[in-house]
Amino acid sequence: MTQARLASCIPLPLEHKVLVTVIEKAKDWALMHGVGMRDKKHFTKDAIQIAPFVLLPSPFPRTEFNKAIELQPILNELMHKVAHDDDFLEHTLQNTLQVDEFTAKLYEIWVKVKDEGITQPISLGMLRSDIMLESRCPHTENQCAKHTPYCSWKQVEINSIASGFGHLGPSLSLGLFRSDYLLQYPEGNKIKQVEFNTVASSFGAISSNLPDMSRYILRQLGHGDLIKNMPENRALSGLCSGIIEAYDLFGVPSAIVLFVVEEVSYNICDQRFHEFEISEKRPDIMIYRKTLNEIFEETTLNDKKQLLLEGYPVAVVYYRSGYEPAQYPSSKEWDARLRVERSSAVKCPSIHYQLAGTKKVQQALAAPGALEQFVRAELCGRVRDIFTGLYSLDFDESGERAVDMALEDAERFVLKPQREGGGNNLYGADVRAALLRMRRARERAAYVLMERILPPTVAGYVVRPGGAVPPPVTDLVSELGIFGVIIGTRDKIYCNRQAGHMLRTKLADANEGGVAAGLGALDSPYLL
Ligand code: ADP
Ligand code: MG
Ligand code: MG
Repeated sequence: MTQARLASCIPLPLEHKVLVTVIEKAKDWALMHGVGMRDKKHFTKDAIQIAPFVLLPSPFPRTEFNKAIELQPILNELMHKVAHDDDFLEHTLQNTLQVDEFTAKLYEIWVKVKDEGITQPISLGMLRSDIMLESRCPHTENQCAKHTPYCSWKQVEINSIASGFGHLGPSLSLGLFRSDYLLQYPEGNKIKQVEFNTVASSFGAISSNLPDMSRYILRQLGHGDLIKNMPENRALSGLCSGIIEAYDLFGVPSAIVLFVVEEVSYNICDQRFHEFEISEKRPDIMIYRKTLNEIFEETTLNDKKQLLLEGYPVAVVYYRSGYEPAQYPSSKEWDARLRVERSSAVKCPSIHYQLAGTKKVQQALAAPGALEQFVRAELCGRVRDIFTGLYSLDFDESGERAVDMALEDAERFVLKPQREGGGNNLYGADVRAALLRMRRARERAAYVLMERILPPTVAGYVVRPGGAVPPPVTDLVSELGIFGVIIGTRDKIYCNRQAGHMLRTKLADANEGGVAAGLGALDSPYLL
């Protein structure tokens, strides 16, 4: 696939001995500052290994970074409003519910607690909007020439090319040969939203340490002058202050905070840092970690609908699990979820927030006129600008059109089910195969179709636990996540702010780059 390139922050490759030495230092820095995870293959609670990381911070255009940061409170509010718009959620999800059992189960809980009467009107959103840089211009050549002097045809370095991008060279539009030209934004790449996470948005804590790690590495390499281009990242304190504010709104002195965790937490550093941070800022707040199964066994609801654990009322429930079907192996986990939802605890997220974070809702918000229902008119353009093509696959005229479009040029799209946690999407030939298989199957409505973003590549080194030292220089692409915290009820917003960022980077030819899923590597932005 043809991709535009960005220059790495220092010239590569590094000399062999320099590289080996700096990687050894960097690994120790990582281990000693919790840039780590538990080993999935040889699990033990007694050791932590390095989390995969990129040796040098990846370049990111400063203006686009700032744009993403400034947009975050607007996106937080958008999701908050969507989560509280019962009609919109109901209407948007109705076809999905027929064919996606997991979403249907969440939905069932939502309907049940609504019917019973919501006990806790306050929700805590700890959100993460994920974005990539799009290197291709969305306009046709004519549009650009006519409306704005926006884009320019540029020769790109790599010559293999995916079939049929609508915006590729003139030769393509004439149906002749594929060209090595890409219609690019002349002033650089533009941010486009990959997805919006409303549940268990992770890596804020570890990512807060990464600028320091990158600074240390740059200094060791004699490039201390460059550290001025690395933005501060206060994701950990920002996210934790959300939990603390929600705790104070609950307002019961003996109350506790409950983290809902997996049976086995591999991403333990990221989770524990939250606990340490809260404990340091607020020694009065005790944090418990429980699985959904343990919540089923060990909690009760009292007559005030307080969720009680070991006799203490739970003020805030923070889900780091519960976002995928495998985390509900039996009806007990679903019962636990319902109990929490019924309770007076402030949930992060409430069930309607989780529904608002589905891919289906993201697709519905990209449809003409949808955003205008939630976002002030003067801000709509800025939000819409970061959306990329998203299409429903429902059984109607537009769904059929989307299927035809994808079958014609599957490389241009990603097929997404209503899942979280990475590794669930389909790409390229698999999009085509799946759509041919599902053409007349109801299952089709469980997916949305999304235009594939083509980010610029940058050369770099990925350091992995047990990986080759030194690793080869490889072509990489990055995904930036901006965290947001919002607390509010249907009618009142108590706080709404941007809360730091994370950057994760993967091999340019890999489809996905989840760090917890073992595909991506932690990174931090180097602003250009
Ligand atoms: P999940 O909720 O499972 O993380 P995502 O929508 O974030 O689902 O998709 C997982 C990964 O797939 C992303 O981190 C990104 O690497 C890749 N991806 C998703 N959508 C796109 C897209 N439109 N263009 C390019 N890559 C994408
Ligand atoms: Mg997600
Ligand atoms: Mg994602």
